[in-house]
Amino acid sequence: MKEIITLDEFLEVKNNNKGFVAITDKNLTRNCVHHAKCKWLTEHNFKMKVITSNRKNGSYYYADNPDTPLRTFSKMNKCEKCF
Ligand SMILES: [Zn+2]
Repeated sequence: MKEIITLDEFLEVKNNNKGFVAITDKNLTRNCVHHAKCKWLTEHNFKMKVITSNRKNGSYYYADNPDTPLRTFSKMNKCEKCF
């Protein structure tokens, strides 16, 4: 699992269309891991959380499989839209 820091890295994950992206947010009771192709993974939301808010409230992580983020983060769940 690897944290996604830059917009280029995020767009590369989206364009490659494989793997999974976990989004943490300390203000939400439920965090989600998504397929890289999930339409709920948006450039806008990535920019807001990672660039604008400077990861103050949460972060994006790339993972080869969904089990690693599900094990690592206590509030992590599978996205209901893409799983
Ligand atoms: Zn999803």
